[in-house]
Amino acid sequence: MQKVTLTIDGKTCFGKEGRTVLEVALENGINIPHLCYDPRLEAYGGCRMCLVEIEGMRGMVTSCTVKVKEGMKVVTDNELLHHHRVMVLKLILANHPFDCMICSKSGDCSLQELAYNLGIENIEPFQKEERNFPLTVDNPLVELDRNKCIHCGRCIRICNEVVQRDVLSFAKRGFNTVVTTPIYRSFEESDCEFCGQCISSCPTGALTEKPSKGKGRTCDIKRVRTTCGYCGTGCNFYLNVNIKGKKVVKVTSCFEGPVNNGNLCVKGRFGYEFIHHPDRILKPMIRKNSGLQEVSYEEAINYTAGRFLELKKKYGPDSLGAFSSSRCTNEENFLVAKLARAVFGTKNIDNCARVCHAPSVTGLSACFGSGAATNSFDQIEGADVLFITGSNTTEAHPIVGLKVKRALRKGVKLIIADPRKIELVKRADIWLDLRPGTNIALLNGMMNVIISGKLQNDKFIRDRTEGYEALKETVKKYTPQYVEKITGVDRNKIIEAAKLYAKAPKSMILYSLGMTEHVTGTYNVMSMGNLAMLCGHVGRESTGVNPLRGQNNVQGACDMGALPNVFSGYQSVEDPVVRSKFEKIWGVSLPDKKGLQSTKMIEAAHEGKLKGLFILGEDPCHTDPNMNLVRKSLENLEFLVVQELFPTKTTEIADVVLPAASFAECNGTFTNGERRIQLVRRAIPPLCGRENWQTICDLSTAMGYPMHYNHPSEIMEEVAFLSPIFAGVTYERLADKGLQWPIPDRKHMGTCTMYEKAFNFPAGLGKFNAIQHKDPAEMPDKKYPYVLITGRRREHYNNGSMSRRNKGIFELWPEETLEINPEDAEKLKISDGEYINLISRRGKVKIKASITERAKEGRFFTSFHFIDTLTNTVTNSVFDPLAGTPEYKACAVKVEKI
Ligand code: SF4
Repeated sequence: MQKVTLTIDGKTCFGKEGRTVLEVALENGINIPHLCYDPRLEAYGGCRMCLVEIEGMRGMVTSCTVKVKEGMKVVTDNELLHHHRVMVLKLILANHPFDCMICSKSGDCSLQELAYNLGIENIEPFQKEERNFPLTVDNPLVELDRNKCIHCGRCIRICNEVVQRDVLSFAKRGFNTVVTTPIYRSFEESDCEFCGQCISSCPTGALTEKPSKGKGRTCDIKRVRTTCGYCGTGCNFYLNVNIKGKKVVKVTSCFEGPVNNGNLCVKGRFGYEFIHHPDRILKPMIRKNSGLQEVSYEEAINYTAGRFLELKKKYGPDSLGAFSSSRCTNEENFLVAKLARAVFGTKNIDNCARVCHAPSVTGLSACFGSGAATNSFDQIEGADVLFITGSNTTEAHPIVGLKVKRALRKGVKLIIADPRKIELVKRADIWLDLRPGTNIALLNGMMNVIISGKLQNDKFIRDRTEGYEALKETVKKYTPQYVEKITGVDRNKIIEAAKLYAKAPKSMILYSLGMTEHVTGTYNVMSMGNLAMLCGHVGRESTGVNPLRGQNNVQGACDMGALPNVFSGYQSVEDPVVRSKFEKIWGVSLPDKKGLQSTKMIEAAHEGKLKGLFILGEDPCHTDPNMNLVRKSLENLEFLVVQELFPTKTTEIADVVLPAASFAECNGTFTNGERRIQLVRRAIPPLCGRENWQTICDLSTAMGYPMHYNHPSEIMEEVAFLSPIFAGVTYERLADKGLQWPIPDRKHMGTCTMYEKAFNFPAGLGKFNAIQHKDPAEMPDKKYPYVLITGRRREHYNNGSMSRRNKGIFELWPEETLEINPEDAEKLKISDGEYINLISRRGKVKIKASITERAKEGRFFTSFHFIDTLTNTVTNSVFDPLAGTPEYKACAVKVEKI
């Protein structure tokens, strides 16, 4: 875009071609009054507040609709413009209640601010016209007060243009115009997903957050910008803290957020109530006389240190292990890895990426040399074709989902490969409704079509890759006919999808746990790498292979070396040069071999080989497959320490429970799914008295290895010093938009697109990996004829310990259901809402049936967010042999009427 120079109120201003006068004025620090403008929306020109005069144009024009031009001369304020604005505002105020004293938006209301700024003292010559609409409070999260509505249309437009749900519209006309849901249904009955984008756009108090009502005057609120603690998208927002009560009372949009531009999902906007939930663990506890008893912090730390030292002396360092957490900050993860290796002396350290995205790390590393997303979320809109596979994007990563929907509106083509009829299917050009666990066959089939149609990118293959001939040989037998038999996908759809993906100038793959949580998880990821390299769709903008990370810091936990095979920055523990670098800085000798993956540590505990385990922010007794076996294995440990926010299935069996601080109580950083390291800022003091990194330091010090840092930024300095890909990271540099690694030095601005010149192997060539299809470990049979797929609900997160403790969110989705196709339900004589038993070879669980077309025949779907529906009783503890990730996405089950 070209730069344009113009004059606004006599000041020389610069803007980009294509921007509007209002946008350029705001960018140059000149405020033109406005009410219906929102940078996330198309220009509307409805409120007539932003009128300006432009030399050469007749009369007054709306600055939000006129594009800047070279040499333009703009006047934003003079007597006539002022008079006009005052009249427009008085007309609006004539219909607006004057009850600012009791309005929760008071002090933060654009209308109020404009009235003050324009010096309005009365509404003369107009007369007040009272409106008397009842409050709409038909749902737990959003309150609509139509009396305060100024008909700017922002809520309607954001719901239509950005969220694309079309929940809101205007009804009636003239003075009777109101904003409403279709046919005046309640918000809950409508298609509303309670993202609150309408609230974030509303310039008055017409739409507000219900849970924060009455929780603090604007003047008592401090806003702290931070990064969301729920999913790997990495949205920014402001935690609103009531300074007097030291409580987080609301979340508001951060429009500067580089990933989300002010948009949030239901969890980001309303999922903060758990922070102050009375169930929080705030005191350390030690198991005494078979019950957990509160003790002093010193006693807990000394006892824990003593027991770990005792076990280390008795059984050796590798009898100990540590699970770090994808929910915690980079700094906390780095310290847990350091605690395990330098203090416990064990090689056994891992994090909960093991049970979700570990195959992304192993699979992408095998193809490209690094285990992370190749491109940025912002590039989604620039693609010609999006291939989304194994990702229910709009539910699991709603803000990435918004980017996808926006791209589709621009004409981007969409291929979906998913065994469920997920929401995006209705917007897709092609839906490949494959059988669970047949991803490799499908991808090989697409590659077969591409190669036999000579659609591969020969130049890219020749110049930038190796191993093509073996791949070509392998995919030969995967003809569309053959693949149709394995996957159940119509052969014509496979051909069509392959051609669409290959022929497009820029095709981008987005995927998630539907690809990784299989026994073939790593191979599934490698197959996507194969497809991308085959067509040269990697190493450029809006292409590549991009995992959508589940938990908020699953990328960072791996980056920080909370893995059994690498130090921070993916430096091998078996490389003597790397190891000696860490040994020098840490002042101890370190294990020189790979350790056990977390799932293997559980097996080792079962076999009595692992004796002591430290778990930070993870609940394997609830979230790991075949959870009864997991519990039995962990009960076998001699000493189990869990640091947690809330009581969980795992704290139930812990010997020591240490309190943890939530993301609102900690300083640090999270790294999102596009490798962006962003600041997490402490909004309130830790409720348990200590940030998590301080507890880890105290434990280390008590074990005889003093760890002292004054602030997490010092931990990050150590990370940067030791890890070449993070060498350019400092907290100062992260402050604004974060940085995407690799960041090799302090001048480097981060990397939006990976592998533009070379892949991350010594020869710089990407590697094709020839892979054969393999069935899931447990196929349906006569006894267990259905396939169970597990996944995520938009409203909830992981074991639900946080999301279930947000009152409004819990009201929206209070219990788990099993999605069953109507034809299956008819065969099984099960009706909607009926409680049934879901049974596998490992156990059974009682669950409510939900009859829906989303489930295909023969396939059931549910999540494991609920404590009273422990889905992992039935899931299968079989693992990807390379990544150690369980097969959550396919196990054989049956159902029984109760
Ligand atoms: Fe938070 Fe993810 Fe929702 Fe963004 S999309 S607000 S990061 S949960």
